[in-house]
Amino acid sequence: MSDRTNNHGRANGAGDQVYDMVIIGAGFGGVRMLHEARQLGLTAKVLEAGSDVGGTWYWNRYPGARTDSEAWAYCFFFDKQLMESYDWPERMPSWDQVLDYMSYVVDRFDMRKDIQFDTRVKSAIYDEGANRWQITTMAGETFECIHFVSAAGLLHIAYEPPFKGLETFKGEWYMTSRWPKEEVEFRRKRVGIVGSGSTAVQILPIVAQLADHVSMFQRTPNYVTPGRNHPIGKEQMRAIKDNYPAIVEQCQRQVFGFPMEPANRLFSNVTPEEAHRVFERGWEAGGFRFLFETFDDLLVNQEANDAAAEFIRNKIRAIVKDPTTAELLCPNYSFAVKRPPTGNFFYEAFNRDNVSLLDIKNDPITEITPNGIKTEGREFEFDIIIFALGFDAVTGALTHMDVRGRDGMTIKDKWDAGPRTHLGISVDGFPNMYIISGPQAPFANIPIIIENSVSWIGEAIKTTMDGGYDMCEAEPEAVQKWADHMQAMLDLTLLTEGYDVNAWYLGANIPGKKPAVLFYFGGAGAYFDELRDNIAQNFEGFAFKRQGSHAQPRSIAVG
Ligand code: NAP
Repeated sequence: MSDRTNNHGRANGAGDQVYDMVIIGAGFGGVRMLHEARQLGLTAKVLEAGSDVGGTWYWNRYPGARTDSEAWAYCFFFDKQLMESYDWPERMPSWDQVLDYMSYVVDRFDMRKDIQFDTRVKSAIYDEGANRWQITTMAGETFECIHFVSAAGLLHIAYEPPFKGLETFKGEWYMTSRWPKEEVEFRRKRVGIVGSGSTAVQILPIVAQLADHVSMFQRTPNYVTPGRNHPIGKEQMRAIKDNYPAIVEQCQRQVFGFPMEPANRLFSNVTPEEAHRVFERGWEAGGFRFLFETFDDLLVNQEANDAAAEFIRNKIRAIVKDPTTAELLCPNYSFAVKRPPTGNFFYEAFNRDNVSLLDIKNDPITEITPNGIKTEGREFEFDIIIFALGFDAVTGALTHMDVRGRDGMTIKDKWDAGPRTHLGISVDGFPNMYIISGPQAPFANIPIIIENSVSWIGEAIKTTMDGGYDMCEAEPEAVQKWADHMQAMLDLTLLTEGYDVNAWYLGANIPGKKPAVLFYFGGAGAYFDELRDNIAQNFEGFAFKRQGSHAQPRSIAVG
């Protein structure tokens, strides 16, 4: 362990830069982890592929990109003065507002000196003899560390356009997840958007205001609830800040980590008229409030879910004037079994003369031609094609890197049949490796998940150091138990239907990826309890060891 007051790395004899901790990614997870490492007195380096902080928000800078979580909960809670000092301009911040916040945080805590930008990690390999991780970047730089943390993100590896003929296209084409920094000129252009998930739902109404014509190629429709974004005035900001203790408390308890109370209402206990009024209020409240503030049983009671689904379909029919387009936009599967997007005037955009909806479920895309997109039945000409095809989500960031634990086992092979972790943070056979926002942690408001995961990691490392150990590793039995637990929780919900509709949170959206339970579906609050209980129970399911020694009882490890 290094000098715990020195926050800078040093070089070893082999020319590696040596740190106590190397963190991949300077999004919310990496930045929060760096802060924790400093609190522990560790030397730490963050390696970030982008040229600035922000993670997902750095890359997904397409027009219209904004959060669908409320600003005052989509932020860090670890420092009261930080919370007091920052004023959010809008309820659902746009991508550049999130980047502004992230920049503010890293500058306030003087973090840039510990972040190396424009650095993509190629491999992270555990050296069993030395009990060290060797990190190598694409540029060939090497780092050595004890603790290796992946904060590479849930939605980092984009699903590349799989269509033949793309290289022949004479116009411009873009992936939303790698949007250029330079402005894309849409005026006087014919634009095709492929995809109809959260991303496409955000970009369509913006492009529609500029382009000559926009066509959306939709395979599966989604249930889009209105975002109801608005500016935050001075008084509202003051009220939010005054209410922060309650907001944090709500986020720690609410099932998806949002600042909301449970509805305290079950669908079966109300009349159809009352149900309609409740849904109407949820629709007006915007964002995820329709899902979480209407009925507490929407994700477990098919009848309640069917009613919510029909309510939204009727909204679509009421908003979209052309009945054929409206029907095509109506999903026929259960509400929220695919992650429901929030939109800002998404359905309204289809009332414009310059917006068309194309059904590629019944008339699939066969190829990209020099002039546009060809389906089985037709050919369309475009000047610009935008692909919003989603991500190799959750596991992709790690499986696309060469990450190897004991005996050279790659994480890709380890997770071949689906991810395996303990607590969604640690993997057996990968000692001192920690994952933030990785598989088998909850699917919920990301920053609050990060706060809790990082606190657990901090405690685990502190326990390692204070116990005189240099290794913390998940035990295989605990990993198996956690996997069984994930499946059991999913099975209690209606979300298993997600397998039938390519839900990315079940890994069902990428051809060749084995579908699996990628998240903890027991609720954020329950997960935070599990993390706290695990610490209280002396890190059950983890072995603390000293190099060359056998595993020590946890009771010794925690003194
Ligand atoms: P997505 O939800 O996975 O949507 C991908 C879209 O591409 C789907 O419509 C999919 O159709 C379509 N697609 C995929 N392969 C295709 C193919 N070969 N041919 C035709 N269509 C194809 O991806 P996303 O929209 O990028 O969103 C991913 C997640 O990112 C969201 O669920 C959300 O969690 C997050 N996100 C958040 C925000 C926010 O905070 N506001 C904004 C954007 C994204 P099928 O549905 O038929 O597979």
